[in-house]
Amino acid sequence: MVGIVIVSHSKQLAEGVRELATQMVPGEVAVAVAAGMDDPENPLGTDAMQVYQAIASVYTDDGVLVLMDLGSAVMSAEMALEFLADEQRQNVHLCAAPLVEGTIAAVVAAASAQDIHQVMAEAQAALTAKATQLGYTPISPQSEQGTGQGKEIQLFVRNALGLHARPAAKFVATSAKFQSKIWVKNLTKGSEFVRGDSINQVTTLGVRQGDKLAIAADGIDADAALLALRALIEGNFGEGDLAPVSSPVSPPVLVSTSPSLQGIPASGGVAIAPILNFLPAPLIVDGSTSKFIPQLLADEPEVEWQKLHSALRSAQQEIQTLLFHTDTQIGDAEAGIFDAHLLLLQDPMVIEKAHKYIFEHNFQAATAWQTVMDEVAANYRQLEDPYLQERVADVVDVGQRVLHLLLGRPLAKLDISQPAIVVANDLTPSDTASLDPSKVLGICITSGSATSHTAIIARSLGIPAVAGVPSSILHLADGTMVAMDGETGTVWVEPDVETVNFLQSKQNTQQLAQQQALTIAHQPATTIDGSHLSIFANITSINDVQSALDLGAEGVGLFRTEFLYMDRDTPPSESEQLTAYQAIAQALEKRPLIIRTLDVGGDKPLPYLDLPPETNPFLGVRGIRFCLQHPQILKTQLRAILQASAGQNIKVMFPMITTMGEIQAAKTILAEVKEELQQAHIPFDTAMEVGIMIEVPSAVAIADKLATEVDFFSIGTNDLSQYIMASDRTNPLVANLADPLHPSVLRTIQQTVQAAHQAGIWVGLCGELATEPLAAPILLGLGLDEVSLNAPGIPRLKQTIAQLRLPQTQAIVQAALQADEPTQVRELIATALSQTI
Ligand code: PEP
Ligand code: MG
Repeated sequence: MVGIVIVSHSKQLAEGVRELATQMVPGEVAVAVAAGMDDPENPLGTDAMQVYQAIASVYTDDGVLVLMDLGSAVMSAEMALEFLADEQRQNVHLCAAPLVEGTIAAVVAAASAQDIHQVMAEAQAALTAKATQLGYTPISPQSEQGTGQGKEIQLFVRNALGLHARPAAKFVATSAKFQSKIWVKNLTKGSEFVRGDSINQVTTLGVRQGDKLAIAADGIDADAALLALRALIEGNFGEGDLAPVSSPVSPPVLVSTSPSLQGIPASGGVAIAPILNFLPAPLIVDGSTSKFIPQLLADEPEVEWQKLHSALRSAQQEIQTLLFHTDTQIGDAEAGIFDAHLLLLQDPMVIEKAHKYIFEHNFQAATAWQTVMDEVAANYRQLEDPYLQERVADVVDVGQRVLHLLLGRPLAKLDISQPAIVVANDLTPSDTASLDPSKVLGICITSGSATSHTAIIARSLGIPAVAGVPSSILHLADGTMVAMDGETGTVWVEPDVETVNFLQSKQNTQQLAQQQALTIAHQPATTIDGSHLSIFANITSINDVQSALDLGAEGVGLFRTEFLYMDRDTPPSESEQLTAYQAIAQALEKRPLIIRTLDVGGDKPLPYLDLPPETNPFLGVRGIRFCLQHPQILKTQLRAILQASAGQNIKVMFPMITTMGEIQAAKTILAEVKEELQQAHIPFDTAMEVGIMIEVPSAVAIADKLATEVDFFSIGTNDLSQYIMASDRTNPLVANLADPLHPSVLRTIQQTVQAAHQAGIWVGLCGELATEPLAAPILLGLGLDEVSLNAPGIPRLKQTIAQLRLPQTQAIVQAALQADEPTQVRELIATALSQTI
């Protein structure tokens, strides 16, 4: 094995270089030092005799390489050669390489049993890696180009710093153990093959964490060599686990003594405020204050009796659904409550009394029902047993359920006068949409998940929210002080000073970060290497448009029109819709506006449509299914959209497309509407683009075929995740499964993007995945053309994109697609980002 001698004026310097170099390949190579003078007064200098002795101490017939710092060190080394015998002198080479880099390269090459000429060549080329990294014209590697023939493997480098000096040395040392020639290239950076036994060439590949390597081996032990290299790389070069997920500076940790409740993070941000329980006010049918007073007396008792029967049947179905969900998701004991409710509904005494009031007193159904339920409640109140007295709440609950159905009224609105954190079992999406963020500082619900519509709307309003909070929160009195962190899903009851201070400082940091991100929010989202992604906003009404533009939205990628249909008794007319669409298009000033047709069902019911309750509403009559069953509603909407499209940049999008037949049927209705408008000489954009949401697995499977029917796709990861992972997006108990960063979901997105691009159409994404802070590299690397998200997330997304490079994001995607779990995906993205940003 070649020996190495380090000649320097400074003993400390030489020893330091030796320490550095031998760490690369500990104990394998003989490295001697000839440095400094034996004079305490003048310690700096070199001595030819010392150099000679150092050479002699490491000398073998394989040769010795001498590396020097400068000036007299070179002269001393030259003189030392004079002391050697002729046959030894020809094996000792003085090397012009830089001392530090050259020695390291030489030691690594020597350790891999390269001959003296190769070791010298390695040392001489030692500046190449540094020069390349610093942007100087690289010195071309001396070795011949690899053929890449023979056996080949491809794999990702996952250790924290990639092929930095020590892992590169290990790579070279491992390669050198085999007879086969090893070649390696960095696929992520598009490099050529270089020699795997050359430390300089391997280092020059600039391999970073997440990069993909191709390693080729040619020779009799190629399989063994590749196996060893795979083990080395997959074992992270012995560096232990991946770097921690957090950014290099660990965030401060809160040590709180306040009682806390853990829920599911639903909308980021911090809130500290008194709570307000949202318990909808009961409907009253005989009170003079109610605006829902029906006529007390009925003309046709039979009609009223049928009405009551139909309401009782619907209530029974609703309660059965609740019972089923509670039983499977929470437990028998809680489900028992709904058993009691069912018994109450079927109680013959209750039914007989209602019959009597309708037929003998000519009461309307609602009046008769409330009268009976008031009597039942009063009877319970008179009982002495406190347990039975508590059953009054159940009587009132059942009574109200039937009354709401009889009167066709949605639940009462949340009326809030002082800033508060709203606590509720659930809020309907329309309840949430009507919240005033200046008053509602936070939302804690005991149901739901991060992709339930309540959570989505909370995010778009910038209201911190936690879903799936343990139900004990419902027992807190109004006015109880609560602190919540929507990012972690933690809620503190009566927080102590430390908790409040901690959260306030977190809030300040978040506000500062948002302000910084805002400074570039109005620039296009472009990576360092020039790749571009269009960033649009998701909106639910005209009220969202200005703030979306202020936050840097370049258009609207998803207008959830169902909110136009909520909080009313009948669907909006054509002219109402036209006015709404025109107002939004005008506010956008020719920026794209993608209007999604009505997507009701699932967790967005429309009470006035009188749809029968479904056991699995997310698998039922949702989105386009509902519209195709009610073509008149769809036609009215399409007429309004088409008319609004005249002179504007409007596109239409159909939700929940599952089959070719559905999109064809929807397009047929669109064509009919166009025909009608043409006949009536009403202008519209004849070239208006038509797209579909890709949000059910069947649509992914036939994306190539669907792409032939439309101009664009938009991937709805909220539904796609719940359907791919078979986990209800409103169920907190399976929320962790319906994760859009699950590799299964990511693979379906990749398939969809590929199908769209192969068919020559563009593809966007409008699910909540885009709001996830770690998603930016995934969105880019997957090759999406557009991304639409809740506007408050736009500045941060643009800021992250501006710090990425496309090949790096593609490598992250490749690694993510191979991961086992979303936690791994998050880890690998976080680690990559912490080194980039
Ligand atoms: C989705 O499913 O991802 C989506 C954007 O639609 P919505 O959340 O309205 O169902
Ligand atoms: Mg959807």
